[in-house]
Amino acid sequence: MKYAILGDIHANLEALNAVLADAKKRGVTHFVCLGDIVGYNASPVECLDRVRELNCPIVRGNHDHYCAIDDNLNGFHPIAADVVDWTRKQLSNEQREFLRNLKYVSRVETFTIVHSTLDTPEMWGYVFDKLEADASFAYQTTSLCFYGHTHVPLAFEKTDRVRVGLYSKIRIMLGRRYFINAGSVGQPGDGDPRAAYVTFDMLKNEVELHRVAYDFRITQKKIADAGLPERVASRLAVGR
Ligand code: ZN
Repeated sequence: MKYAILGDIHANLEALNAVLADAKKRGVTHFVCLGDIVGYNASPVECLDRVRELNCPIVRGNHDHYCAIDDNLNGFHPIAADVVDWTRKQLSNEQREFLRNLKYVSRVETFTIVHSTLDTPEMWGYVFDKLEADASFAYQTTSLCFYGHTHVPLAFEKTDRVRVGLYSKIRIMLGRRYFINAGSVGQPGDGDPRAAYVTFDMLKNEVELHRVAYDFRITQKKIADAGLPERVASRLAVGR
């Protein structure tokens, strides 16, 4: 059984399609989605449809959450708020209801998925350092948990202490716990513009990060055509 872990797709259909094609080549049999299917880029409807076709466990991201409710967007970055506003108008009532019903945390087979943190998932905190990871470890009941939200693929490993680093392949060892960020499919934030996703091979107990090039110029054109902020389009070329 081989899972693909899809995080932070952010309405980028070209990146999502490239990742799904790559996953197929790698013999992926199952999918999970770490949330933030919508927000930022210009294909929220298509991306949500595509992810739902996978019939897979999905947890709620902050963009999914805010695009599905009508609350005002105080505290949101102005660029993100503009897009949330636009996305609300694109999604159907049924789609918004679907997003409203997503859980914050989900257990899948032997592992856990969450968008932000395990300690206070509805607060949308970011896990970048060991202290923040340790707060999640306190609530982690499986040896492996995948998370998203930061758009930076970092892995935390807990034994008697917490270690952290970038990764390409991790062998999951008995008696240790892992809190692993799967990177972002649709808006990478680590300086590499290629789409990021992770596979988890349950037989080999191996987690692997993959990067997939896609034609972001098509995505950029859709963003411009939709009248969304220029910064949303330009960042796709640099992965920041
Ligand atoms: Zn995100």
